[in-house]
Amino acid sequence: MLGGSPDADVLVVGGGPAGISAARAAARAGLKVVLADERPALGGQIYKQPGPGFTVTDAAAMDRQFRYGRTLIDSLDGTGVDVRLRTGVVAVEGSRAVLVTEGEPAVTIQAPRMILAPGAHDRPVAFPGWTLPGVITAGGLQTLAKTQRVLPGRRILFAGAGPVALAFPAQLAHYGANIVLALEAGPAPKAADILNLARAAPGNTGLLRDAVRYRTGLLRHRIPLRYGRIVVRAEGDGKVERVVHAAVGPDWRVRPGTEQTVDVDVLCVGYGFVPSLELMRLTGCEFDYEEDLGGHVVRRDEWQRTTVEGVYAAGDGAGVEGSFVAVDEGTIAGLAAAADAGVLAADTAATMAAPARRRLVRRRALSAATTRMYRVGPGVFELSTEDTVICRCEVVRRRDLAEAIESTEDINVIKAYTRAGMGLCQGKNCQRQIAALIASRHGRAVSAIAPATPRMPVRPVPISALADHDIVGPGLFVPADTISVETPLVEEKESAP
Ligand SMILES: Cc1cc2nc3c(=O)[nH]c(=O)nc-3n(C[C@H](O)[C@H](O)[C@H](O)COP(=O)(O)OP(=O)(O)OC[C@H]3O[C@@H](n4cnc5c(N)ncnc54)[C@H](O)[C@@H]3O)c2cc1C
Repeated sequence: MLGGSPDADVLVVGGGPAGISAARAAARAGLKVVLADERPALGGQIYKQPGPGFTVTDAAAMDRQFRYGRTLIDSLDGTGVDVRLRTGVVAVEGSRAVLVTEGEPAVTIQAPRMILAPGAHDRPVAFPGWTLPGVITAGGLQTLAKTQRVLPGRRILFAGAGPVALAFPAQLAHYGANIVLALEAGPAPKAADILNLARAAPGNTGLLRDAVRYRTGLLRHRIPLRYGRIVVRAEGDGKVERVVHAAVGPDWRVRPGTEQTVDVDVLCVGYGFVPSLELMRLTGCEFDYEEDLGGHVVRRDEWQRTTVEGVYAAGDGAGVEGSFVAVDEGTIAGLAAAADAGVLAADTAATMAAPARRRLVRRRALSAATTRMYRVGPGVFELSTEDTVICRCEVVRRRDLAEAIESTEDINVIKAYTRAGMGLCQGKNCQRQIAALIASRHGRAVSAIAPATPRMPVRPVPISALADHDIVGPGLFVPADTISVETPLVEEKESAP
């Protein structure tokens, strides 16, 4: 609670690989750490544990990600980290943060340091039919499979790009999904790519082995993987019945006359991920633009310090680079927080961070080796038509945006005029599309279009979490069962004579 002394030395937001490693490093160095995650279990996106109500009776029968995740989560045991689950951090200002735990009133806690490790979300792509029931993001489908053991549909087409285009269909097939076709937007690997990968192999053999395992998994399940093809539209009467895909060039722009149609009932879309920036934007951090890391990425130094004092960023939330990078960045951020707080000598922190730094250099060499194959092309943001819904929360179509885009390059103004980006997801699904439309109309680079100003709360919050429970008068909010027609909610004032 607010008061003289802080509630924690460091607040870690996010209980994925980055947040867990950061919390562990900071706590082991002697800091009092609060770790908040809105999900019911630690593990983040990759190490999602089965949901409430499930009990794992045989860990050996689970997949490797589950087992890695369990080991990482268990490494917090004995560190004294105060883990708060089902707890969203919905606002930050200076050293204060507002935490909302499911079913409880919001609390404000004070922490002079914050490590933001909120991860990423699917890179949204709008194409005709993307809002039809049956179209699902890779993250959504993965969550269903991992936490609920549920698979939607009978015939699934996967369309995506990057490492996920190999990993997801193979993983989903492992869970029993019937993937009839996998599409990768990027080009097929050439001999030069294989050579580059081989050069980057030292220290990355595990990851390369995974890639081979995924490829053989696709072959074993007889899932065709077609390179250089992209989803063009989903069609059907009230639900997905077929998907049209087409060949693309190196910029992912559709080559006319190459369209093909496949009958499916689920289209799973996975064109990579973009960092969750809201909290970093609220704290006033500065950003750079790197499309391959997800677009706008927070600026940080080699200790994961952002440009705002006391605020550190790690993991996919600071640039999408995968779970191994997230673990190492988290460790470095935790050590930095401890060193900056004066509980760890700077040279000790440097020595402790050295192995993580060496691994990061090797991981990044591997990413560099895949750049030609995995570079995101602008064509993926040019698939919508005038009639395509761009903001699905507020149902704003491309044609509804045209006038506003004509008059301004400011995404905030477009939001105010059209309501695009004002809904539940707060622009997560439409902002990148709108930025691409603005860039194309005004001849600007997408990197030059600033994201919309974030608003608190960054997550939907139930009114009961914010309402003052000490107020006894019913005010405007009275329980429904106490309302009777004889008792007006607001006393009618006597009308003036
Ligand atoms: C949808 C998706 C699917 C992926 N699938 C794979 C895969 O199959 N294989 C693979 O190798 N990699 C996969 N990745 C990449 C991998 O998951 C990440 O690289 C890794 O999880 C990054 O770790 P992280 O700790 O940075 O973020 P995450 O693991 O995403 O953890 C971030 C955590 O922060 C929490 N959080 C965010 N905002 C708040 C807030 N305001 N308040 C409280 N909690 C908050 C989230 O609930 C989440 O648990 C996937 C990524 C995504 C986004």
